[in-house]
Amino acid sequence: MLQQTRVSTVVPYYERFLEELPTVTALAEAAPERVLTLWSGLGYYRRARMLHAAAKRVVREHGGRLPSEPEALMRLEGVGAYTAGAVASMAFGRRAPVVDGNVTRVFARLFAVDEDVKSAKGNARIWKLAGDVLAAADGAPGDWNQAVMELGATVCLPRDPRCGVCPVAEHCAARKLSRVEDLPRVTPKRSPTVVHRVAIVLASPSAVLLARRRPDALFGGLWEPPSTAGSLDGLAARLGVEVSALAPMGEIVHVLSHRRLVVRVVRGALGRRTRWPTPEEEYDAIEAVPAGRLSSAPAGRDGGSYAQAALGRKILAVANVVRSGLRFEIR
Ligand code: SF4
Repeated sequence: MLQQTRVSTVVPYYERFLEELPTVTALAEAAPERVLTLWSGLGYYRRARMLHAAAKRVVREHGGRLPSEPEALMRLEGVGAYTAGAVASMAFGRRAPVVDGNVTRVFARLFAVDEDVKSAKGNARIWKLAGDVLAAADGAPGDWNQAVMELGATVCLPRDPRCGVCPVAEHCAARKLSRVEDLPRVTPKRSPTVVHRVAIVLASPSAVLLARRRPDALFGGLWEPPSTAGSLDGLAARLGVEVSALAPMGEIVHVLSHRRLVVRVVRGALGRRTRWPTPEEEYDAIEAVPAGRLSSAPAGRDGGSYAQAALGRKILAVANVVRSGLRFEIR
């Protein structure tokens, strides 16, 4: 939950999640929709699905107890080297290194690493250095890892590092070589790809039409007003509505890690139909959802089983179907 998200944002989600699913077994036995609803609003929904799959594996293969070795942890769904190292060292006292952005900066400077730290070679070099130093260090490995992270977060800052108060300054190669400001070396990121979509919101005072995204699609398993990267005409035809009966409501810009989604929102009347064709290959179900089952809250019990991603809620808010407390850009 904490990756890419502030602690203050996560706390209520974390508490609600643990209150409802207090053990690995409870999580393993929960319905996927329930897990997604509890996660709804945190983003990165693949993590919720991975966490769920990992809980099932822990129950199936480890008798409900989390394994303590990094190699076994890394065989769990969604667990990479960082999480495995953090859990193994901090929860189980294993001598496993942890490398995050802060640790990378500290080691890149301490050892004047010239490779691009985002490249496979540079990243492998940082992990190797972190492992070698940890192997030679005294004390609890978890404390050591946290101390290095803290050093990066509070002293070895990206700009204006506080070398004057740094406890490892006398060992620092970057300082000796006057290269502190040049390190770590990173190649500039590509700007995100812009993807244009159009969403059709068909609503009545008591219901709104929502489609469920296929498990393998972006936001898989979550519900939203049907949208397409194709044309408005095509989507309207699939839903059997006249384009002339749809009113423009606005455009949303939603930024993901590698993509910038620009979604045009149009709205029309839901009518009295009871059956709807599932539009686009991205969806696997479609339903007229009663207004009472929608939630404008980030997540929660009142969200029913129609968990929505932030983008879906923004679309409903722009279409005046729900009020959203989310900050977003409308043009
Ligand atoms: Fe970072 Fe400066 Fe300490 Fe080197 S001396 S590790 S650059 S804070």
